[in-house]
Amino acid sequence: MTSHAGIRSELRAWVAANWDPGLSLARWRELLADSGWASPAWPRDWCGRGLPPAAAAVVTAVLAGEGVPGPPDGVGVALAAPVIIEYAPDELRRRLIRPTVTGEITWCQLFSEPGAGSDLAGLATRAVPDGDGGWLVTGQKVWSTGAATADFGLLLARTDPAVPKHAGISCFALPMRQPGVEVRPLRQMNGHASFNEVFLDAARVPPGHMIGDPGAGWPVARATLARERRLAASRPAPGPGSRKTPAEQPGRAWQEAIAERTAAAEPHKWYPQRAGRPDLVVARAQAEGKAADPVIRQEIAKLIELAWSARWTADRAAAARAAGQPPGPEGSLGKLASTRIARQAARVHALIGGPHAMLTGPDSPLGGVVAEIILSVPAISIAGGTDEIQRTIIAERILGLPREPDADRDVPFRDRAGGLRQAGRGQEGHAVP
Ligand SMILES: Cc1cc2nc3c(=O)[nH]c(=O)nc-3n(C[C@H](O)[C@H](O)[C@H](O)COP(=O)(O)OP(=O)(O)OC[C@H]3O[C@@H](n4cnc5c(N)ncnc54)[C@H](O)[C@@H]3O)c2cc1C
Repeated sequence: MTSHAGIRSELRAWVAANWDPGLSLARWRELLADSGWASPAWPRDWCGRGLPPAAAAVVTAVLAGEGVPGPPDGVGVALAAPVIIEYAPDELRRRLIRPTVTGEITWCQLFSEPGAGSDLAGLATRAVPDGDGGWLVTGQKVWSTGAATADFGLLLARTDPAVPKHAGISCFALPMRQPGVEVRPLRQMNGHASFNEVFLDAARVPPGHMIGDPGAGWPVARATLARERRLAASRPAPGPGSRKTPAEQPGRAWQEAIAERTAAAEPHKWYPQRAGRPDLVVARAQAEGKAADPVIRQEIAKLIELAWSARWTADRAAAARAAGQPPGPEGSLGKLASTRIARQAARVHALIGGPHAMLTGPDSPLGGVVAEIILSVPAISIAGGTDEIQRTIIAERILGLPREPDADRDVPFRDRAGGLRQAGRGQEGHAVP
C-alpha cells in the first residue's frame, strides 16, 4: 500500500497498537526501527519499508501529528546511515544501521579541515593501512558538529596521494572514543559550542569500516553533501503547527526524548543550522500585538512567499526523484533558498522585537532566543557548502556555464602547488565529470 492516504491510515493504526507512554525512548525507537516506520524509504532489510522517498515526509508528519517521538535527529540517520546502506558491505550495515536508528550510537561528520573548506577534495588527513586489515588516520578536522558527544565519525581521509585529489580519498566509519582522537570544542558567537576541532593521531579504523572502495570516497562525499543540502532546504515553514505537544502525550519515552534534545544535546541547543526559525514568526507577531502592523505583515508575507516557493521547488524535485530521476544539483537551489528564508525570518524577528531583539537573558524576547536567532543566521550561508559554492554548482550544472578553473584537478595530489598542505568543504560541483 503506497498511496499517501493508505500510508497515513496504516501508520496511525500501527501507532495506536504499539504506542505506550510507559515505554522507554530506546524501546520505542526499536519498535520504529523493526517495523520500518523509522526510515520508511530505506530497504526493508535496513529498518525501512522500501517506500518511495516522498512517503518519508508523510510518515514524519503522521508521527508528529500523533504526538509520538520519531527516530533521532542528526548526522547518523540523516547522513551516515543512508551512505552506509548505499555503499558499505553488509557486515558494516548489520553492525551500524539499527543502533544508529535506535539512537544507541551517535555520529558526527568529519569532512572539513583547516585551509580547504570549499575545496573539500583537497583534504590532507591521511589514512594508511595498519597491516592488520584496518587503517591508521592522522590529521585535523574542524567545524565538526557534535564531535564531542559522537560515538562514530563519518570520515574522509586521503588513502592515495599519488593520484589526483578526487581519486585518492576514502570514506570510513571512525570510532571516536579511542586514544588517537582528541576533540576540542569551539565557542561560537551565539554562546554555544556545537563545533569542534578534531585531532587525529594514528586513530584506528577497524577492518571492514570503509564505506565504499579504497579511493572511491568522493562519490560517497558527494552523496552525503547532496543529502545535507536537501536537509537544509527542509526547514519548517511559517504558520501554526499541527504537531501535538508532548504535554498531550506524556510518558517516559517523551521525557527521554526531551532530555535527549536538551540536557544530553545541550551543545546543540539552538543549533545554528536551525537559525532563523520561520516557524516561530507568526506566533511571535501575534503574541507581541504586532500582527496588524502593515510593515511586519508585509515582511511576513515575503517570508511565506519564499518558504512556499522553496517548498514547491523541493516537492517538484522529490517528484522527479520518485519518478526515477537521480538526485541532482536541485539541492543547491534548496540550500540557497533556505539561507534567504532564514535571513528574512531573522529580519522579521528583529522587526517584531525592535531594540529588545538584541537583548539576551530571561527578560528579553523569548528568553534571549530571538537575539540568538539573529546571531546564528550567518551559519546557514556556510554550513553544508557556502552560498558562493551553491551558485557555482547551479551555474555549472544547471545553467551549463563553463566550469571554474581548477589547476590542481588532474595533478597527483602530492605534486600540487602547496604539496600536502592541510585542507576543509567541497567545490564538489567541480567534481562533475
Ligand atoms: C553551522 C555549521 C556546521 C558545520 N558542520 C560541519 C560538520 O559537522 N562537519 C564538517 O565537516 N564541516 C562542518 N561545517 C563546515 C562547513 O562545511 C565549511 O565551513 C564550509 O564548507 C566552508 O568552508 P570554510 O569555512 O573552510 O570556508 P572557505 O572555503 O575558506 O571559504 C571562505 C570564503 O571564500 C569563499 N570561497 C571559497 N572558494 C570559493 C570559490 N571557488 N568561489 C567563490 N567563493 C569561494 C567562500 O564562499 C567563503 O565565503 C559546518 C559549518 C557551519 C557554519
